Amino acid sequence: MSTQSGDSPLYTQHGPPTLDEMTGPEVAEKLNKTDVLLLPLGAIEGHGAHLPLGTDNFEARENCRRAAIELEKMGCPVVIGPVVPFGTSSFHMGFAGTITLKPETLIAVIREICLSLYQTGFKKFAFVHGHDGNLPSMMVAAQEVVDNTPDAKAMVLNWLTPLSKVYHTIQASKKQEGHGGEGETSRILVTHPELVHLDRGVVHHVPPEEMRKIQGPEHIKTGGGIFYATRSYQEHTPYGHIGDPTLASADKGERGYDIIARWVAAVVARDYFGHDVDPNDVTRLDNSP
Ligand SMILES: [Zn+2]
Repeated sequence: MSTQSGDSPLYTQHGPPTLDEMTGPEVAEKLNKTDVLLLPLGAIEGHGAHLPLGTDNFEARENCRRAAIELEKMGCPVVIGPVVPFGTSSFHMGFAGTITLKPETLIAVIREICLSLYQTGFKKFAFVHGHDGNLPSMMVAAQEVVDNTPDAKAMVLNWLTPLSKVYHTIQASKKQEGHGGEGETSRILVTHPELVHLDRGVVHHVPPEEMRKIQGPEHIKTGGGIFYATRSYQEHTPYGHIGDPTLASADKGERGYDIIARWVAAVVARDYFGHDVDPNDVTRLDNSP
C-alpha cells in the first residue's frame, strides 16, 4: 500500500469517540449513566519497516473501542479515555523514532489522568494496554489511584493472556509470532490498512529458547509465572519486529480483536456492573456442554 502525502486523509477513525472527540456536556451527560472509564495505554516504538510507530496506540484505542461497543450491547455504558500515547519502551530504543518514558513518569501520568477524571465524576477505571511493556507501571498506577481516593476502583486488563490461549487457532504461522508479527500486523490491517506496508515486511523468527523469555506460556505477561526483564530488542531482531508479517490478514486481525474485546467487556461487565458473566468463556475452546 502506498504512503499518502500532502493533505489527503491518512486513515479513517471509526467511533465510538474517545474523550478527545467528546464535548464536556456530552461527557457530563454520559456521567449520568456511568462512572466507568476504559483507559487505552499505547506507545510510540519501532514495529519493523511494515508498521507505523503508533501501532500500539491504534491497538489500545481499538481494544477499548470494541470493548465499549460490546459493553453497550450488554447494557453497560462506558466512556473511552484518551489514548496515553507514550509508554515504557526502553528496550525498543535502538529503533528510530521510539519514545520511552521512565516508569515513574508513566505511573504519574496515569495516576493524574485518573485523579483528574475522578474529580469530574469517574469512579471506576479499567486500564487496557496496546503495549505489554506498560503493564508494571499500569499496575502501580492502579494501586496509587485507589490509595489516593476514598472509593475509586482501578484494574489492569492484560488481554495477552486470554488471547495467547487461543492464538494458535487464529495464526497461520507454525512458529512463534511476536512483536510486529502476524497477529499484530493483522490487527493494524483491520483498523489502519493505509499505514501497513506488507511489501516491506521481512520474515524474522528467533529460536524457541530465546522466544521463551520474550513471551510464551512461562512468561508472566502471557499466562506464566516468570518475568524476564528485556535488555534490548536489537539482541533479538535487527528489524524491530519478530515473526512473519507477510502472513497477516484483516480476517485474522478481526478474530484477534474479537477475543480481546469480548474478554475485556466480560471482565468489566462482571467486575464493574455486577453481571453474571465468565470471562473465561471467551477463550473456552471446547464448547460442548
Ligand atoms: Zn506493538
